[in-house]
Amino acid sequence: MRPGQKLKQQRPLRPVQLALLALLLSLPLQARALPPFADVHVHYKWNQEELTSAGQAIQVLQENNTVLALVIGTPAEHALKLQQLAPQRIIPVWSPYQAPGDWSTWAFDRTVLERARKALDSGHWHGIGELHLISGFTPAWETPVISGLMKLAIEHDIPVLLHTEYSRTQHLDALCRSHPGLKIIWAHAGAILEPAQVDEVMSACPAVWTELSARDPWRYVDTPITDTDGRLLPEWRQLIERYPDRFLVGSDPVWPVERLDSWDQADSGWQQYDRFLDFHRTWLKALPPELEEKLRLTNALGLFGKDAATEQ
Ligand SMILES: [Zn+2]
Repeated sequence: MRPGQKLKQQRPLRPVQLALLALLLSLPLQARALPPFADVHVHYKWNQEELTSAGQAIQVLQENNTVLALVIGTPAEHALKLQQLAPQRIIPVWSPYQAPGDWSTWAFDRTVLERARKALDSGHWHGIGELHLISGFTPAWETPVISGLMKLAIEHDIPVLLHTEYSRTQHLDALCRSHPGLKIIWAHAGAILEPAQVDEVMSACPAVWTELSARDPWRYVDTPITDTDGRLLPEWRQLIERYPDRFLVGSDPVWPVERLDSWDQADSGWQQYDRFLDFHRTWLKALPPELEEKLRLTNALGLFGKDAATEQ
């Protein structure tokens, strides 16, 4: 209102106005009525904590009805801060990364295996990741740190969350064939691969679960999984229908998206959490209800031995 503008004479509200008001007041409650979601790719990093306390992060998950969140801390212990506040909701994943840039050098760090062994023996961790295997940065998987971590994951019967970026599938294919029994959660569905290539890996490796985090309008924009209206592309839909029990969804809340772990800027990914989940909920809704529920919730619950009934 501008100064000098006159107020209309106040009149009692009519029923229709009252109904509208009640609707507006009930919006937060409606948000909580969102269908439950299992988010298999969540970060809680040192430069996110600057903006978002552990308590606030849990609140964001509650508001989005994220009933299960696979959390990667940087450093790893950050994930436990969230888990302490919401033990039923948080699945902490052990990460070898301790500092910015470790995504590109971790496979050369000879302390990783010993740290991993100690961490996993504590019983706090239910996965290993996110491990970046990136063309031009990562050595061959046969090197001791990578293959050693895969063996530890098998030993503890926990999945590894792998982020691969190769234009071909041979790398992951060879890694999974060489580690029978290794459960792999494949981040971003191979990031830059075509659906046909993702299919190759999934048919060769029955213990690969493919997750679609960061495959949204803000990341991997050259390899979208949806059209500009947010509808799943037919070739992705066909792939999901071929492996209905092995697709998962996640948010990967990092922001701004074009910079990875910068020193001089806090990461406001948690402030963008709703945006990521809303995008995924939209394309999921167009799937047949049974398939939608698998991707949104039950595939992830099953992978971590949880029961849908107790989570809702
Ligand atoms: Zn990530």
